[in-house]
Amino acid sequence: MKWEDSLDKVKGVGPKRSEALAKVGIKTVGNLLSYYPKKYIDRSVFGDPEHFFEDQEISLKATVLDTGRVQRIRGNLSIFSLPLLWENKKLSAVFFNQPYLKHIFQENQDYYFYGRIKKGYGSIKITNPQFVKASNPGVFFELTPVYRTIQGVPGSFIPKALKEIFCDSLEIPESMPEVIRSGENLLDMKSALKAIHFPDKAEDVILGIQRLKFNEALKINMGIMSSAREKRYSEIDINLFTGLEPFVNSLPYELTASQRLVIDDMVADLKNGQVMNRLVQGDVGSGKTVIAVIAACLMAQNGYQTAYMAPTEILAQQHGRSFKELLKNTGVTVAVVTGSLKAKERREILKQVALGQVSVIIGTHALIQQSVAYYNLGLVITDEQHRFGVKQRSQLSSKGNQPHTMVMSATPIPRTLALILYGDLAVSYIDELPKGRKPIKTYCYNEASLHKILGFVQDEMSKGRQSFVICPFIEASEELEAVRDTESVYLELLQEIDPKYRMACLHGRLKSEEKESIIQAFNQGRIDCLVATSIIEVGIDVPNVSTMVILSAERFGLSQLHQLRGRVGRGNHQSYCFLVTNSKSDDTLARMKVIVNNRNGRKIADEDFKLRGPGDYFGFKQHGLPKLGLLNPTEELALIKRTKEIAELIFESHNQEMMTFKNDVLKSFYFDIADISLT
Ligand code: ADP
Ligand code: MG
Repeated sequence: MKWEDSLDKVKGVGPKRSEALAKVGIKTVGNLLSYYPKKYIDRSVFGDPEHFFEDQEISLKATVLDTGRVQRIRGNLSIFSLPLLWENKKLSAVFFNQPYLKHIFQENQDYYFYGRIKKGYGSIKITNPQFVKASNPGVFFELTPVYRTIQGVPGSFIPKALKEIFCDSLEIPESMPEVIRSGENLLDMKSALKAIHFPDKAEDVILGIQRLKFNEALKINMGIMSSAREKRYSEIDINLFTGLEPFVNSLPYELTASQRLVIDDMVADLKNGQVMNRLVQGDVGSGKTVIAVIAACLMAQNGYQTAYMAPTEILAQQHGRSFKELLKNTGVTVAVVTGSLKAKERREILKQVALGQVSVIIGTHALIQQSVAYYNLGLVITDEQHRFGVKQRSQLSSKGNQPHTMVMSATPIPRTLALILYGDLAVSYIDELPKGRKPIKTYCYNEASLHKILGFVQDEMSKGRQSFVICPFIEASEELEAVRDTESVYLELLQEIDPKYRMACLHGRLKSEEKESIIQAFNQGRIDCLVATSIIEVGIDVPNVSTMVILSAERFGLSQLHQLRGRVGRGNHQSYCFLVTNSKSDDTLARMKVIVNNRNGRKIADEDFKLRGPGDYFGFKQHGLPKLGLLNPTEELALIKRTKEIAELIFESHNQEMMTFKNDVLKSFYFDIADISLT
C-alpha cells in the first residue's frame, strides 16, 4: 500500500465509513497514518489503590472472590460489581451496562485489572476496568495508543486498520535527505510512524514524535524561507539621508536607544536596494508612532508618499494628529482618509493624493480600496498588524511600485509564533519604555470593592488626573447578566461620582463624529472620566490618565488586558490599574495573576499563548498559519531555531537530493496554505 492510496483498499471501509472518516479529513492511507494517538495507556504501572489519587488509572493484580452481582437499575441500565481481594484488602471492580460479565470471571482466579480508582464510603472501587487473566496476559502490558474517537467509526477500527496497513508492504515516502536524518539522529519516516502507532516502550514514542515534530518545524521554516527568499529589488530610490538627523533632533524628546536602533535597521534596509519588509515590535507606549513619522519624513524628503494604515477610524484620526504635530515644521503634508469623510471632501483629498500634493496618507482599510490611486507610493506602514490578515497586507503592497513595508505590532506575540507568522519579515524590537515612566501598579479585586476603588479614582481626579472605566459590553446582555456594560455603568457612575467630575461614555456604536468629539474632549482634558469598551484598547494617548478600572475583567484576553492597561502610565504620574472580577474560577484567577505580576508584554503573550493555544490566539485562518499537529511552538523554540538553520542549508544546497526534497516540501506547503481560506 502507498501513502496516497485511498482507504477503500483497507478492510472494513465501505462507503459509509469512508464518509465518516472523510469528515475528519481522513481520506488516504497517509491521512490515517497521520492521525496520531491522543495518548497512550501504560498498563504496566501498578500501585496500591489506597495511595492513589481518585480517578488515577492504575493496574493491579487481584483475586476474584466470587462471580459477582448484577444490579438492574431501570430499563436496561445495570451495574455489575465483582468482589476482589488485593493483598489481603477487599475492593471491588464495578462495570456499567455489561451484565454478561457475570459469566466471565472465575472464582479464586487471579486477574490483572486496569482502570480508574474511586474511593468512597470506606470502600475502594476500580471502575470499568480492562482486565485479563493473570495466567495469560497476552498484549495487556504493551503500551497502547488511544485515538480520539471519530463519529460513526467504532473505536476498534483505527488500531485494526493501522495494523493492516503496516503489515502490508507499506511504502512510505522518505524524502528527507539521509545527511539531515543521520546528522540530527532522526528515525526514518516509516520507523517513526511505527513507533508512534505500535510502540514497544515509551522511548519509541518519544523518538517517533521527535521525528514528526522535526518534519513540521522544518516544513514551516522552509515555507517561510521560500517567500522570504524571493528577494525583490526595489526601484524606490532613497538616497537623501541628510535631512534625517536634523528632523530627529527637532523632536520634542530624545529617542530611546531602542528607537535609535530601529531607525538604524530601517536605514540599512533602505540602503541595501531590496524591498524593505520589517516588523517593528514594541510594547504599548514604547514609542512606535514616532518611528513611523521619521520613516514617512524620510520618504517625503526623497519625494515618495507613505501610506499609514490604522486598524480603526479613531486610531487613524489620532495618528493623523500625531503626525501633523510632529511634522508641522517640515513642510511634509499629511491627509487623513477614512470612511466617514463626506464624498466631496474625500474626492478632493484623493485627487491631491493622486497628484502627489500630499506626502503622508493616513487611514483605515479604506486605504486599500481600489479607488485610492497614489502618485508615488514608497512606503506602506501597517499599525497593530494583528488586525489585518496576510491578504490585506499584500493587497496594499501591491499598490504602486513594490513599496517598502513596515509593520508596527503593539500586541506582543510570543517569539516563536512571531518566527512563524512573520518569518518573512525582519524584526526590530523596541525593548524599553521612554525615560521617566513608572510601572503601572496593578491590582485584582472583587466587585464588592468597587466603591472603594471609585473613591481612589476620585482622589486621583481631584489631583487633576483623568481615568478610564472599561466594560466588556456596550449594553446589558440578557444571557450574560453578570457582565458589565458601558450604558448601565455610566448611569451608575453618574450617581456615584461627584458631579463636578465630567464623565462620558464611548463605544463602537456611536456615530463617528460623536466618537471623535468625545475623544477630542478627553484628549484636551475636558472629560475627567471616560466609561468605554475596549475600543480604547489601542491608540489613545493621554499622558494625564492615571487610573484604569476594568470591570468583568475575566472577559478579556491577557494580551488585551495588557494592551488596555497600556493606555495609562503614559506620562510621568504614578498610574494604577484595577482588574475587577467576580469570577472565582481558578482559570480566571491564574490569568489575573499573570497581569498583576507582569509588565512585559512579550512575557504576557507567552503566558496567554500557553493558556489558550495558538488557535484562539488570533484566528488561525486570517494568518494562513499552517496547521500544527504535534508541534507546540512556545515550547519548541530550540527546534524551530535548529530547523531554521537546516532550512537555510537546504536552500543553499545544490545537492540533487536536497533540491528534490526542497521542491517536494514546498509543493505540499503551498497545498496546506491553499487549504486555509484567507478572508
Ligand atoms: P506605541 O508604541 O504604543 O504606539 P506611542 O508611539 O503612542 O507608543 O508613544 C507613547 C508615548 O510616548 C507618546 O506620548 C509619545 O509621544 C511618547 N514618546 C515616544 N517616544 C518617546 C521618547 N523617546 N521619549 C519620551 N516620550 C516618548
Ligand atoms: Mg501605537
